[in-house]
Amino acid sequence: MARLTMRHVPDPILRQQTRRITQIPASLKQYTDDMVETMHAEHGVGLAANQVGGLQKVAVIQLPEWNEPLVLINPEIIRREGEREVEEGCLSIPGYRGTVKRSERVRARALDLNGKVVRIKADGLLAQALEHETDHLNGVLYIDHLVSRESFWKITYEADPPEPTDDEPTDGEPNDGEATAEETQEPRASREESE
Ligand code: ZN
Repeated sequence: MARLTMRHVPDPILRQQTRRITQIPASLKQYTDDMVETMHAEHGVGLAANQVGGLQKVAVIQLPEWNEPLVLINPEIIRREGEREVEEGCLSIPGYRGTVKRSERVRARALDLNGKVVRIKADGLLAQALEHETDHLNGVLYIDHLVSRESFWKITYEADPPEPTDDEPTDGEPNDGEATAEETQEPRASREESE
């Protein structure tokens, strides 16, 4: 395993459309392992390939309460329902957070590393992460969804943050502070841990 180099704004790769993977190469397992290691080291809950210099349509997500990551190849949001405002950050935009518009519930479809179709029904933090990571792979950043110009702020650790923040000073991936374990995933194929 190896940590990959994070790309930060204004790196143009973050605005690039990534390429669909038509055949899953054996090397992708190692690559996604490295993405997971990088995501953990950065204290994020999700990471998309172009955030670490890759141009393939692959992302990883691991919510705080999960024991293992979800690897998403060619992920797509196929249905969105409802609208909500949530606070969000991004590992590629360190030191900032913003309030964005997101869907309340989403349905997503992707392939896993075995090429098997994975369908995910999600709300809460998982829905937010799915939208955030799928956006990344299409060159879209959360700052494109800000509810207003004022709803974007620098994280300060002094006494005068523009808005009270709820918890740890994380610059992690989407975190609305209300992570619930209500998301359902179907089917969640069992995955073997391997070297
Ligand atoms: Zn991000």
